[in-house]
Amino acid sequence: MVRLLTEKDPVALHGYTSAQGDPSVRKAIADNITERFGFTADPNLIYMTCGAAASLTITLNAIVNSGDEVIVLAPFFPEYKVFIEKAGANVRVVKCRESDFQIDFELLSDAVNEKTKAVIINSPNNPSGVVLNKDTIKELAELLERKSREYGNDIYIIADEPYRELVYGDVEVPYIPEYYNNTIVCYSFSKSLSLPGERIGYIFVSPKTNDCSKLYAAVCGAGRALGYVCAPSLLQYTVAELVGSTADVSVYKSNRDLLYSALCEYGYTAAKPDGAFYLFVKSPERDANAFCERAKKYELLLVPGDDFGYSGYVRISYCVSPEMIKKALPAFKKLIDEYR
Ligand code: PLP
Repeated sequence: MVRLLTEKDPVALHGYTSAQGDPSVRKAIADNITERFGFTADPNLIYMTCGAAASLTITLNAIVNSGDEVIVLAPFFPEYKVFIEKAGANVRVVKCRESDFQIDFELLSDAVNEKTKAVIINSPNNPSGVVLNKDTIKELAELLERKSREYGNDIYIIADEPYRELVYGDVEVPYIPEYYNNTIVCYSFSKSLSLPGERIGYIFVSPKTNDCSKLYAAVCGAGRALGYVCAPSLLQYTVAELVGSTADVSVYKSNRDLLYSALCEYGYTAAKPDGAFYLFVKSPERDANAFCERAKKYELLLVPGDDFGYSGYVRISYCVSPEMIKKALPAFKKLIDEYR
């Protein structure tokens, strides 16, 4: 392991890094990408940020012009809408298939048009926990390549990846730059290292994007204009040492196993979650908001799917102690029994 942190003198540790991040930190991250995915990454195309939220806002500000469209796949992280609109673009929502929460390519194909600048994908997904599989990513890449040629525009995939390492069993999360050239990865260490309050992540512009140096310059310019420069030095040096490590994912897995199997046994229907720490459960009544209100009687705090652009479902977060899950199970049972 590189011991960058302990070698630093206090002035370097607490001083400014360069605007896009310390070169040694960006090199540690690039080396890790190359080692893990066999995809040669370039430190000079990495930009350190205060987490995925900053990675997304900088990226969107770098690529969109007023009137462009950015496609989001429902269910989606609600902040996307705010980030896209603030960057001056319009949001176009495409619903995922209810059967497996993979991409509905008929709907997506209809949605892509000459104004489409990017598609944001988030896998493993918040709120469904679903991982987009290799076939889906290949089909997505083919569709966007075809549409880019048809309209004569670059269409980017923005891969929002804060949950990449939180997967269970031998599920593989395809590395998007391997499949599609015009990819920008928005990464965060919030979840992989379980330190969301520390605010550290990065943007990686694939070297295979068209005019990658210009695109990276646009990222640096957007970061500067937003004031998102020089991500915290201490955290940069920390993640450089820890890159490739994860928090104890086994706790999430046992929570997932326990909650998913119990809820299925009680009669709930849920998307099969292979990652992240969420379950997306079909509401037993049409109005998911009413169901969430009813759940409060049992001290169960659920989030209606409407907030994620997918009505009729609710999100349960299992990023809690195993004891809390065990305590909640009888309440979930009583709740669904009300509908019998
Ligand atoms: N994207 C998704 C899908 C998220 O769930 C979150 C946080 O929960 C973020 C982005 C923002 O991550 P960060 O805390 O690193 O800014």
